[in-house]
Amino acid sequence: MDKKELAEKINKLKKEKNAIILAHCYQNIEIDLVADFVGDSLGLSQLAAKTNADKIIFAGVYFMAETAKILNPAKKVYLPNISGCDMADMINLEQIRDFKAKNPNIPTVCYINSTAAVKSECDICCTSSNAVEVVKSLNSSEVLFVPDKYLASWVEKNLPNVKITAYQGYCPTHFKISANDILTKKKENPNAIVLSHPECRNEVVELSDFVGSTTQMMAYCKKSSEKEFIVATELGVVQRLQRDYPDKKIIPISKEIFCPSMKENTLEDILYTLENENNEITVDDEVAKKAINCIDRMLKI
Ligand code: SF4
Repeated sequence: MDKKELAEKINKLKKEKNAIILAHCYQNIEIDLVADFVGDSLGLSQLAAKTNADKIIFAGVYFMAETAKILNPAKKVYLPNISGCDMADMINLEQIRDFKAKNPNIPTVCYINSTAAVKSECDICCTSSNAVEVVKSLNSSEVLFVPDKYLASWVEKNLPNVKITAYQGYCPTHFKISANDILTKKKENPNAIVLSHPECRNEVVELSDFVGSTTQMMAYCKKSSEKEFIVATELGVVQRLQRDYPDKKIIPISKEIFCPSMKENTLEDILYTLENENNEITVDDEVAKKAINCIDRMLKI
């Protein structure tokens, strides 16, 4: 079957099974042919929380499917490929407990890119879209932040009165982007605006004209009257911007900046999961009960 035939089959089957397909914008671009919603972690969580579908097929990584299950436990949630996020996997239950024990009585914020077990030990969750607002909402002069040290730096830069003690995790994909990559692209395209994700290293953020989540970067590009953009994030975002704004010059920082875990899902995998209902994601009740407070508190902001 070619991609079009596969997509038709998936779209027919998902209606018959009252299923919804949620896709992260780092997924392979052909997944958009069958996705009901394509977005970043915040948008996907909000949708997972309110969907009336019986089944959620999550084209993303493990923590995203776990979050969907926690937010909407009556639904069946499936992950076509059991692939994890390398950043989320840098901290486990024992490590978060140890980190908190070493820094007692300080509110703990976790990036949504963390496992349900880690969320269950934290006070509030955040995404890259709302991390600054979330930390601000705590009204605390000191905060612990896990697992991403670069997102923590970005928040601290925006809230200089808050002392942030960060766990030393990071995204290996965004870590590959260097200051030199930005300078080289900027030399080749002197009129281009540099957009970067706050998971990037501090020196990359410093050289950027705009820093934001994937959705914020896409919205910036849409609204801007500028015509050229250097995009310092995962390739899926670059490809979607190139598709959606053909009148603008969208310059990838490098074609090598892609997340291998996110790229595992294919249309064939999604069809297989719809047909066979394999890889159903479950979350331990006790863990879910604690983790939902952490996520709900963020969603209320
Ligand atoms: S791009 Fe980085 S943070 Fe996002 S899923 Fe991949 S490893 Fe995790």
